[in-house]
Order: sequence, then structure tokens, then C-alpha cells
Amino acid sequence: MANLGITTVGEAKEIRGMNLIAAHSHIRGLGIDTETLEPRATSQGLVGQARARKAAAIILKMVQEGKIAGRAVLMAGPPSTGKTAIAMAMTQSLGPDVPFTMLSSSEIFSLDMSKTEALTQAFRQSIGVRIKEESEVIEGEVVEIQIDRSVTGVFHPSSILPVGGTLLQIQLLTRQKGHKQGKLTMKTTDMETMYDLGAKMIDGLTKEKVMAGDIISIDKSSGKITKLGRSFTRSRDYDAMGPDTKFVQCPEGEIQTRKESIHTVSLHEIDVINSRTQGFLALFSGDTGEIRSEVRDQINIKVGEWKEEGKAEIVPGVLFIDEVHMLDIECFSYINRALESELSPIVIMASNRGNTRIRGTNYKSPHGLPLDFLDRVVIMPTYPYGPEEIKEILAIRYTPTPPAAGQSHFHETGLRYSSHLITTASLIAAKRKSSVVEVSDVERSYKLFFNQERSSQYLQEYEKKFISEDGSVTFAGGA
Ligand code: ATP
Repeated sequence: MANLGITTVGEAKEIRGMNLIAAHSHIRGLGIDTETLEPRATSQGLVGQARARKAAAIILKMVQEGKIAGRAVLMAGPPSTGKTAIAMAMTQSLGPDVPFTMLSSSEIFSLDMSKTEALTQAFRQSIGVRIKEESEVIEGEVVEIQIDRSVTGVFHPSSILPVGGTLLQIQLLTRQKGHKQGKLTMKTTDMETMYDLGAKMIDGLTKEKVMAGDIISIDKSSGKITKLGRSFTRSRDYDAMGPDTKFVQCPEGEIQTRKESIHTVSLHEIDVINSRTQGFLALFSGDTGEIRSEVRDQINIKVGEWKEEGKAEIVPGVLFIDEVHMLDIECFSYINRALESELSPIVIMASNRGNTRIRGTNYKSPHGLPLDFLDRVVIMPTYPYGPEEIKEILAIRYTPTPPAAGQSHFHETGLRYSSHLITTASLIAAKRKSSVVEVSDVERSYKLFFNQERSSQYLQEYEKKFISEDGSVTFAGGA
């Protein structure tokens, strides 16, 4: 099997997670007891919301045991009740090669592709293929490296080192202009072998600064050289090592061995690489465009074969769809069908809507999800925080916590507004050249910026002065 040599799921996860760090950077996990799955009061950056955390922990366990692929979970709760925070906490607890994809529903309407294609890509990004590769590896201690440096094609007798310098070889060297050749002698505690070196291998050894006494490993199919350390027998050669030199034992047994390496890529990554119009460069630009369904069918067959032959394993990951009420009826019908497919991740959705219109229809339903879809979904509610919990979350998120954050009336404004207040108040404090945010700074910020409640009061008061839906304005006093 060819070495795919592309961004692995683990790396891609790191990149994807970057834009979410700011809001949820304090969250390090679900904060649960791994034995009982009971949430600790405040742990790993998460506060309260015990029932939802416990439910998330159960789902996580099922994902880890591979029991829940093809299911959908809905986190339903008012704004700022930690739905995204809990989803982020779940990703922290997934293994490094379990794919996690985050999709904001409004995104799929702005992408340069059809809605169903965007969803298909998100689904396939969330399914990992753990590929096992057996490769032949040469591993041992370097005894000697001999390199012929007649790179100009001119024969320099002095550059030919004694080993293997027959007349025939010398003639060959003088004829091949610019051609490098060499020999590498390697040993284990049981044997010693000499290998011929081509130009590519010589460049590799030079780049890695390999010298006699190094323990190295060479992948025979890719030619990749890895320096494992320096042989213990050379530990007295003080002139040839730095302070961070790592000493290792000379390997035992055969020099040439078979090794198994494992790497995980997502189904979407395999699709892109095999899509002739896109090629693997699209993985870096992110501009993958639409992928033909024949390509996907072939990949599914191939992956199925790898699975049968024991070369690959399917790793169902997690697809998180935020603001799911923004999806329309076609998207819901697509997800409903996709969940039944053999290759499906677990879909976690979040919505802060109550009874609302299903996009693309005139019907209302809970959370804006069609009833037949809602029927197959596991619903996890999240509840508004009390003042004490808000106080604790703010204390975790903002250090040092401004004195005003300790006052009870501050928490009545809700979690999101109070965090905005802290940010704007700290700017006000900085303006008066103080590093401490005082109560007066927060009060000033409170006067300048409205929360939702005061904004509706203001609207009621001044409604007539706003431009209405039909474009008319009624001026006060009938003027
Ligand atoms: P919305 O419905 O508006 O998308 P949400 O329910 O997804 O809201 P979050 O974005 O998760 O809410 O929460 C708002 C902020 O509060 C985030 O910075 C989040 O990290 C933090 N937060 C929420 N709940 C908790 C919690 N239980 N412990 C610690 N931090 C929390």
C-alpha cells in the first residue's frame, strides 16, 4: 500500500481546533470520574451542568467503545448554557486519532458547493481510516560510510575508498557524469552487512549528518532515514557529540526487519487525494470543490477490502453541528439517510431554539427539527446557570477576576453579557492606565452597552422612531 504522506487526522484536528481556542480555551475535559462517570462539581474548566456532562460522558464512552456510530444527539438549551463548551470537552477526551469535525450550520449555505455535498464532506471528514502498514526496515549501528565524491565525472583516485574498489567500478564512475555512489556498512550485535548507496540515499545520510557510531533506521520503501541515537560503545568519543546526545544500545539480531506502522486519515482526505480534478494540494488550500460520487464509491469499496484484509480499521468520529435549526428540510432528510449508512460518524447537534419553523417549510416543531428526525435523536438538555455558577465560570475564565464580578447583581445579567462586561470594563480600566478593573469601570461599561433585556425595553420606548418593516417611520408628536 502506498504511503499516503498527508496531514493525519490528529494534525488536522489541531488545525481545526485553533479558531475555537479563544472562547473555550479554559476547557480541558468533561471533568468526570472515569470509573463512575459522575461529574465532579468543578473540574477540567467545566462548572455545574451536571446532568448534561454525565450524559456526554456516557455518549463518549460509547464512541470510544465503537458502539454508537450512526446515532444523533441533540444538545438543547437556552443560549450560553455550555452546549459548545461540553462538545469541546468531549473532543478533548477523544483519542488523538478519533476525528472531530465542527460545522456551523450557516456555513453550509455560504460554501461554493451544494448543501448535500458540504454535508457529505463533513460526514466523511468525521470518519477515520486507521491504516496499518508493514514496512521493511534496516536498523543497526553505522560502522562506516564510504562516498565517492567524483561529482564532476572526473576520476580522483584518492576519493575512492578501499572497500569494493574494483577496476570495473572505477570505469563506471568515470563515465557517469555527476553520479554519486557509495557504500554503507551497518551492524547489529549479531551480524554486519554492506549496502550500496545511490545518490538519493547519500543525500539523505548527509542531510541527517549520519556518521559512524550512529544507530539509524532506514525505511526500505520510502528511503526515510531516522537517527535513533549514538551507540553506547562510542560514549567516550567526547569530541563527536553535543550535550543532548542520546545513547542507545546496538540492536540485536537481523539488520533487516519488518515493522508495523499505523496512521489515521479521514475518508474525506482519501477522497480528495484520489479525486483527479483536485489532487492532494487541495488539502492544504481547503478548496476541495465537489467530489464525484464514483470516486467515493470506489474509495468505499477499497476501504472495505482493506478492512477485510486486516490492513485498515474504521474509526467513527464525531461531527458537531452547531445552530442546527439553521439547516433546512433537505439537509435533515440527508442526515436522516446518512445516519443509516454503514460508514457514519456520531452526529452531535446543538440548538438554542424553542418551538420554531423548520427551514424550508411552514411547519413549526421543537428546536426547528422535523418530528421524524427528532424521533431518532437522543436529546440532552442544558439549563441556565445560577449566580454562583456564573461567578465560578467567570473566575475560571478571567484571572485576576475584577472585584465587580463578585457582586450578585452582576450575575443576573447572564453569562455571556457578564463576560462582555469584563472585557469592555478592562479596556476602560486600561484607558485610565490602571491594571485593576474597578467596580466603577464595570458600571460605566454597563451604561454604555445594553444586554438583551435593556435592549428590548429601549425598543419598546423608541419603536416608532425606528424604520419599520414597510420602510415607514412615525415621528413622535405626529410631526
Ligand atoms: P449558544 O446557544 O449561544 O451557542 P452555548 O450553549 O453553545 O450558547 P457556550 O458557547 O458553550 O454556550 O458558552 C458560552 C461561554 O461560557 C463559553 O466561553 C464557554 O466556554 C463558557 N461556559 C459555558 N458553560 C460553561 C461551564 N459549564 N463551565 C465553564 N465554562 C462554561
